Amino acid sequence: MVKINENYLKLPGSYLFSEVARRIAAYTAAHPQARITKLSIGDVTRPLVPAVIEAMHRAVDEMGTAEGFHGYGPEQGYPFLREAIARHDYAARGMDVKPEEIFVSDGAKSDCGNIGDIFGADNTVAVCDPVYPVYVDTNAMAGRAGDYVEELGKWNKLIYMPCVEANGFSPEPPSEKADLIYLCFPNNPTGATATREQLKVWVDYANANGSVILYDSAYEAFITRPDVPHSIFEIEGARTCAIEFRSFSKTAGFTGNRCAYTVVPMELERGGAKLNSLWNRRQTTKFNGVPYIVQRGAEAVYTPQGRAQIMENIAYYQRNAQVIREGLTAAGLECFGGVDAPYIWLKTPNGMGSWEFFDLVLDQANVATTPGAGFGPSGEGYIRLTAFGDAGDTVQAVDRIREMLRRG
Ligand code: PLP
Repeated sequence: MVKINENYLKLPGSYLFSEVARRIAAYTAAHPQARITKLSIGDVTRPLVPAVIEAMHRAVDEMGTAEGFHGYGPEQGYPFLREAIARHDYAARGMDVKPEEIFVSDGAKSDCGNIGDIFGADNTVAVCDPVYPVYVDTNAMAGRAGDYVEELGKWNKLIYMPCVEANGFSPEPPSEKADLIYLCFPNNPTGATATREQLKVWVDYANANGSVILYDSAYEAFITRPDVPHSIFEIEGARTCAIEFRSFSKTAGFTGNRCAYTVVPMELERGGAKLNSLWNRRQTTKFNGVPYIVQRGAEAVYTPQGRAQIMENIAYYQRNAQVIREGLTAAGLECFGGVDAPYIWLKTPNGMGSWEFFDLVLDQANVATTPGAGFGPSGEGYIRLTAFGDAGDTVQAVDRIREMLRRG
């Protein structure tokens, strides 16, 4: 009889988004006249920019000719894209990342999950709390998380690093030794960033302990303040201890187009092996590359027109973030994030629970949000608001919440 991976049986249901959807559906059924505005959208809504569309059209036409046809491409990505990434995302910011260190993929979600393949099952894993659930669930599937403890909302073998107001939502190294450390800045869900000094502490910790930092900077394009680091590789010593994940999803609206990349420096070695070689082996065995047409679209993001056009979309979302942050702060609520990130982390008033406030805002303001408790125990007492919606809807949603607060 075949044996299944029993770690899958330990996974709790993906409760958060299904429960949010269930509550919205129940409310709408009971109040058919209500028009719910969503400040809970985790996907982009602006269309792909013209430079990307034109590049993809050209690539489609090429594919229809004998000379321009592309079959299987290099699993690591086409050189034209790896070189553009190295030049624009790294060299232009003073970092020396070589094209051979860049692995183009179909998503940061896949890469954050798949990277676990190259690490042993008995490594200790540290995650932020609250956290992007993919880091937790993929380690649970691999048997690195132990058992799920329902009452605590935690896995018993994971190290949870609380990201709370007192530490600026940026964790310090834990007292236990962590082998794999997931960091995500700008952060989903809190919208927080880490300073260079804070990242340096992590790099020193990882180098001293033989740990590896898995650094997710999927929201890098939203950074506005000049002193906020865009990459872990801006930090001295990171090339011997860190892997970085980036994505075109939020940068260029590629959530439905699928293109991302992971950087594994040549200097990063553990257990006598180069992690770059292990990841290359993993990708060439299990992955057959991103479509040529999509990679040509991604390359266009780095042209002057492409860059200007995607930055317009990002500015659109940033204005939404500002509307939410300033509107709700003026109404007396405490808001974090939303400056260098599309997420606003809002503290519920009067110590209300996340779900309680979610229900209140849904009922009294007809606005959908995401309860912070769904991202981990330290998210209790917060809700996450997103800036990815329509500008008019965002203004209206903020006005409705303000009106709700005025009514008391
Ligand atoms: N990393 C973080 C922190 C995210 O929030 C998301 C998407 O929401 C992803 C990665 C997924 O990126 P991709 O669309 O490239 O798979």
